[in-house]
Order: sequence, then structure tokens, then C-alpha cells
Amino acid sequence: MQKALFVSGKRKYLFCADQNGMEIIQPVIDLAVAEKAPYEIYSEDQPLIEWLKKQKMGCYLYVASEWAKLDSLKKIAEEVGFSEEEAQYIGYGKRWAKVFCCRCHGITNVILEENQEIACSECDLLLGISDHYSTLKNAYLGYVAKL
Ligand SMILES: [Zn+2]
Repeated sequence: MQKALFVSGKRKYLFCADQNGMEIIQPVIDLAVAEKAPYEIYSEDQPLIEWLKKQKMGCYLYVASEWAKLDSLKKIAEEVGFSEEEAQYIGYGKRWAKVFCCRCHGITNVILEENQEIACSECDLLLGISDHYSTLKNAYLGYVAKL
């Protein structure tokens, strides 16, 4: 599981998390409190985009959610203008990903795990999953695991 890292010295900290996500970022909230930094926790009584929009410059955002929802939350934050340097996204739970085969370019859906090998759903080739993510194909490159 990913961990949230506290980035100190920000003007204000914003936390957006569901129940399980809250447990992950609680240590960071504690550190923000210890630093006497202002912080705010998102509650669902307003749309996330509205809450983010009314924040001032210099805020640092933490989002913790299950992987399935994390991308859409990230999109909202980016739409409002939070860059990679101004936000951390922490996912938990099962992470579905697409892997494309280096041989037949077929796409296989998998739940990502560490050091995993999968069989291509199209040609059955045994694939390792690389860190190379193709935004074009929306998938990770699978390479030949064994000859
Ligand atoms: Zn294949």
C-alpha cells in the first residue's frame, strides 16, 4: 500500500479521503496539526470541485481513495489547477490496469500486484509488466517474461 508523505512548509493542507483513505493520511494530518498549519478536511456536503475552487493559492492537497475512484478525483483536482507538485494521490485496494502485449498488441485486464506475470489474453504469451505506461494505449507495456 502507498503511504502519504508529509510535505512541510505549505500555507494550508487540504485532505480529501473516504473512510479507509482517512486512515492512510491520518499520520499526515497529525503532522500538519503538530506544525500548527491550517488544514481543512473535505466533507461531502458540497461538490469536490466547488470546495477546491474556493481554496487560495499555496494549498497542498492530499487525496486518498480506492484506486477505482482515484483517477476521477485527480482529474477534478487538475481541472481546478492543482499540479503534481501541489498534490499527492494515494490509492488503496485493488488496482485494475491494462497491459498490452509486446507480441500481438492485445490488451489484457489485470489486478496489479508486485512482480507479477500474466498470460496475454490474446496470444497466451507469458508477460512481465513493465513501468512503461503508454498514454496512447492507456496500458502498461508487457514484455516477454520467459523465452
Ligand atoms: Zn499477445
